[in-house]
Amino acid sequence: SEFTLALPKIELHAHLNGSIRRSTLSRLAMEAGIPEEEARILKEELKSLSKAFSFFGVIHKSVKTYDQITMIAQEVCEDFEADGVVYAEIRSTPRDLTSSSNPQGEGKESGRQGDQVDGKERYVQSVLKGFDSYLGSGDERSRREKCQVRLLLSIDRRLARQDPKVARDVVDLALKYRDKGVVGLDLSGDPTKGGWEDWEEQLFRARSQGLKITLHASEVPDSDAEMAKMLEFDPDRYGHCCYLSDDHFKKIRKGGKPLELCLTSNVLSNSVKDYANHHFGKHYRFAPKAQTGAVREFNLGSSALEEFASSRGESEGNPLILCTDDSAVFGSPLSQEYRIAIETFGLSQRDAFHLSEQAMTATFLNPGVSEADRTSMEIVRQKFQ
Ligand code: 5GP
Repeated sequence: SEFTLALPKIELHAHLNGSIRRSTLSRLAMEAGIPEEEARILKEELKSLSKAFSFFGVIHKSVKTYDQITMIAQEVCEDFEADGVVYAEIRSTPRDLTSSSNPQGEGKESGRQGDQVDGKERYVQSVLKGFDSYLGSGDERSRREKCQVRLLLSIDRRLARQDPKVARDVVDLALKYRDKGVVGLDLSGDPTKGGWEDWEEQLFRARSQGLKITLHASEVPDSDAEMAKMLEFDPDRYGHCCYLSDDHFKKIRKGGKPLELCLTSNVLSNSVKDYANHHFGKHYRFAPKAQTGAVREFNLGSSALEEFASSRGESEGNPLILCTDDSAVFGSPLSQEYRIAIETFGLSQRDAFHLSEQAMTATFLNPGVSEADRTSMEIVRQKFQ
């Protein structure tokens, strides 16, 4: 609708390769010579999370060069801007695209250690270069219509299980590029693979260095034991949380951390039955509402989230952030996710505005320390006035 397109929106859970422009994906798949039977999945309806992961496999086989990563990053920013997204944290798993033993960077161990890190570092640089080409230089960077964009680096569960170096490399890279556009870490990848011990140490190391962390949590049934560990770790944000037990639901509500919720992704991958049964509704009853003004009055010199928390006093509940997850895979831009939330849960336009505005409190920007973050936050803040 016109309203949800015009609404300034904040995207905090979008995977770079899952957000690839569809026309670009078709072209790259053809250029990469993906066999027809494999490429067919790109046109099929998704009915499970595992099918979504086969889709990512085809994307990763199609995207072969660093220049393509740069182009994809630039196009994703352009597409987000066209959809009215004013701030985005895009996440991606650094992959070595050069390793000859491992052309797709998928799984198999690479021969020489040094190459791995270099290849992954080049990946990070390539994404940031794409963001830079989108943003332009000098004054153009802070043009009001630009989508302010930052990068989160993802630890892939399956790869972290195969090689302890994987999680360490991601943390090293995030630390190295933290003032150059990387604002935090993500844990994602096939939720049926890997276990907490495969990344725990590195997550604690990242946190001790001040990196912000978001975790894909409770995406599949029977993940209670892992969820307990995640709650104990207490990350800065959670993604999905589809299968929380009652006890964990209460704990998460009490913790008050922002939740990244992806309606269409969860419905199409069959993690929730339909929109009406999405846990957004359950959490929304407790979510802090009508906080307009609270966000506006932030002293940008200190942590927005802390101020937000204290302005909420004793109230429980989580800021809810509507997100796309993989807009290429699931075919739904953020404006559509807002439209679906409005229609399914009976939100007024005012409610939707508050929901969107509140997402600002959940970013990983660090305006107290970084001048660039302060500028971005100010630009975004103005969009809500
Ligand atoms: P990339 O990290 O290559 O930019 O984006 C694609 C990757 O993001 C996938 O291979 C997968 O590791 C991760 N990803 C995308 N969507 C989901 C999701 O819904 N759940 C989980 N756990 N991981 C996802």
